Amino acid sequence: MSKSEHLFRQAQQHIPGGVNSPVRAFKGVGGTPIFFKSAQGPYLYDEDDNQYIDYIGSWGPMILGHNHPAVMEAIQQQIKQGLSFGAPTALEVTMADKVCEMVPSMDKVRMVNSGTEATMSAIRLARGYTGRDKIVKFEGCYHGHADSLLVKAGSGALTLGVPTSPGVPADLANHTITLSFNDLNEVEATFKELGEQIACIIVEPVAGNMNCIPPAPGFLEGLRSICDQYDSVLIFDEVMTGFRVAKGGAQAYYQVTPDLTTLGKIIGGGMPVGAFGGNQKIMSHLAPEGPVYQAGTLSGNPVAMAAGLATLQQLDQPDFYEKLTATTSKLTTGLITLANQQGVPFTTQQVGGMFGLFFTEDSQVTSFQQASNCNLERFKRFFHAMLEQGVYLAPSAFEAGFVSITHTDEIIEKTLNAAKAAFAKLL
Ligand code: PMP
Repeated sequence: MSKSEHLFRQAQQHIPGGVNSPVRAFKGVGGTPIFFKSAQGPYLYDEDDNQYIDYIGSWGPMILGHNHPAVMEAIQQQIKQGLSFGAPTALEVTMADKVCEMVPSMDKVRMVNSGTEATMSAIRLARGYTGRDKIVKFEGCYHGHADSLLVKAGSGALTLGVPTSPGVPADLANHTITLSFNDLNEVEATFKELGEQIACIIVEPVAGNMNCIPPAPGFLEGLRSICDQYDSVLIFDEVMTGFRVAKGGAQAYYQVTPDLTTLGKIIGGGMPVGAFGGNQKIMSHLAPEGPVYQAGTLSGNPVAMAAGLATLQQLDQPDFYEKLTATTSKLTTGLITLANQQGVPFTTQQVGGMFGLFFTEDSQVTSFQQASNCNLERFKRFFHAMLEQGVYLAPSAFEAGFVSITHTDEIIEKTLNAAKAAFAKLL
């Protein structure tokens, strides 16, 4: 028995399902999750000393690869100064300045400890600001596990077949209106009927929790103008896309300005961090400046700020995103070529450093419905064939993949060699 198998058995005694976050349990692909003990650059090492090329990157944060020297140095320096003060620090000021510089739609930013906290707080702020209760989200988008947002959600909720979780009060779920991603007509019709009651639209500007689905041309622009028309707040949930698809996130990439933005993952450089922010008019309603309450014992934690700031500073390197995007394209186009050669119906989609794999006859996937109709059996077999060859992909067909700046051409070649054998096994 491998050490991972042994640990997974032991883990299930005292940890629900043996994991501290559901997608890790391999429910979407079957088999035993791998237990890791270390990582370096693009590689992960498991408890049995096997090496894997990592395309999860801790679900997005590790854009610089694992253990980047500047990040590790910043953390070590900060640790010597103390772990947590529960009081303001200079680092938080530098972090806020940096984030607002990188994401120009944000005049002010509040640091929190996870993406879930960021979206939950942004929704409360939008409701407090507008005095309205209803919110609009899109089926298959995931915004963390706050009650209002676990309605027709993506990611692990979708993989496990519980997109709407038991435990969410019906009275609360009634305020969440779930529409189809990329369908502007549906949004327009809904606002015509209920617009005056809708506090906000929250959207992943590139959907990354039902595989990887970019916005259709005009979709984000349309959401912007509908929100303007009805005085609703437009929230871009950039927990995944922020600093990932471009330095300024999806809003820079698609040139559409939201009112509020939520961030997570990369902003913590691998430490537990999230953030939300936006224009001065709305942010001034947040406590202690305004009445909408939000707080956190460890928010703005100095060690987490040091890791996040060191990570963001690295993103200023010239051509960082050109390189990341080119590497990701080399992977996605290589995969399509190999699948075509083997006659496997397959396509990929990519924005910057994030990508999705689709086992489908369709050349383009623009909707939740299409993503759901992909061949999940083929995905599972492909996933395991890659894993056996030391390539660690997201263990679900409903997740995006991530490339880091340490994924060299040689690593992509190795991955494509593995994929050649994996595609051959599918037919
Ligand atoms: N929003 C999006 C778009 C996400 O992808 C995620 C997590 N994958 C979250 C929110 C929730 O973040 P966290 O897991 O840090 O709570």
